[in-house]
Amino acid sequence: MDTPLISARTLDEADELAAFRNEFHLPIGPKGRPVAYFAGNSLGLQPKAAAERVEEELTDWRRLGVLGHHAARRPWVKYHEFLTEVGAQLTGSLPAEVVHMNSTTVNLHLMMASFYRPTSKRFRILMEKGSFPSDRYAVTSHLGWHGLTESAALLECAPRAGESVLRNEDILDVIARQGSEIALVLFSGVQYATGQVFDMPAITAAAHERGCIVGFDLAHAVGNIPLRMHDWGPDFAVWCSYKYLNGGPGAVAGCYVHERHARDFARPRLGGWWGHDKDSRFLMDAQFVPMPGAEGWQLSNPPVLGLAPLLAAYELFERATVARLRAKSIRLTGFLEGLLTREVAHAVEVVTPRDPQQRGCQLSLRVKEGRQRGRETFERLEAAGVICDWREPDIIRAAPVPLYNNYSDVCELVKNLAAILA
Ligand SMILES: *Cc1c(COP(=O)(O)O)cnc(C)c1O
Repeated sequence: MDTPLISARTLDEADELAAFRNEFHLPIGPKGRPVAYFAGNSLGLQPKAAAERVEEELTDWRRLGVLGHHAARRPWVKYHEFLTEVGAQLTGSLPAEVVHMNSTTVNLHLMMASFYRPTSKRFRILMEKGSFPSDRYAVTSHLGWHGLTESAALLECAPRAGESVLRNEDILDVIARQGSEIALVLFSGVQYATGQVFDMPAITAAAHERGCIVGFDLAHAVGNIPLRMHDWGPDFAVWCSYKYLNGGPGAVAGCYVHERHARDFARPRLGGWWGHDKDSRFLMDAQFVPMPGAEGWQLSNPPVLGLAPLLAAYELFERATVARLRAKSIRLTGFLEGLLTREVAHAVEVVTPRDPQQRGCQLSLRVKEGRQRGRETFERLEAAGVICDWREPDIIRAAPVPLYNNYSDVCELVKNLAAILA
């Protein structure tokens, strides 16, 4: 492992994004030095500026009380608007298509309340088998809400026997064959367990061709791979801000609604006063007049203290840019894949697709000896100061995040893996 360590240092020195690592707090590990952190797909690290952004709001609250709604340096009535521009860049959306509010699952419920409108002929929901549990719970609860059952209305695309990831052609085939009965196609952008990127433009086009509504859960995609929501054209999307976006535990989530629905006021929605036309909101009228665009789905006034850390993270994304992050990400994850092949291929299988276009930064690893050895390997990595995460039944996920991970972290991971599995 000596040669890769030297080449990793050289690569780190040549990395134009290397300085962003210093903008984050790295947790200190058991050996008293910073851990090698590969869990940014689960909870992103804390930007150093997060405390300052939160403190600014605490100060304005202390100083101004209720007057802060309008007089704070960032007026609280429109605090969510300060995140819109970067949220739009990260998802490839128009600013009017984006709003930050609630949590991912709440936003998914709000979107399904508006966009899952089953009829007697068109009532099915198509999603990937093994989707993130919260998404499946949200979906099956909507089926129940409409008096439908899972067995009658839920279609799940699974990988073929003996394969770990889905084939795009199999997804498109279900849409082509059963599209006339499908009300909603709901996929993740990046599969949380396998790290597979789904072909969002192809799925959207095929589903629209058959008259289905299309939504994506971008929780593992945003801040990880470049997205072009507006051009690809899905009807809605939701995402989570505490993974690659580094907004902090339980951070306020994001939501996208395509421009074509901006003035779709006849479509049912669950309303709240922050979705009301902002110019007349404080007339406190009895009739709900929704704002055009994604903001019209807001319920409540923005949780300022919850949004403040995300603002700190967005300042970094804006400077780093999606394009530069993606270029580094492809190199960094490729470096990890190369070292794994060289050092531990006998003991570890990479579940994630090999094609860089079909993955983001995460590689999902399966220890060939089985679940118990896999779990033990994961725990020994953690004890050695290498933080990955474990997903049942047998997956170790490792995400080298281009914003703060470096090539030396990757060496540290593979060196420890090789020693544990020797
Ligand atoms: C992380 C994640 C969530 C998280 O949901 P919250 O409601 O924000 O806790 C939901 N869906 C997917 C696909 C995720 O990866």
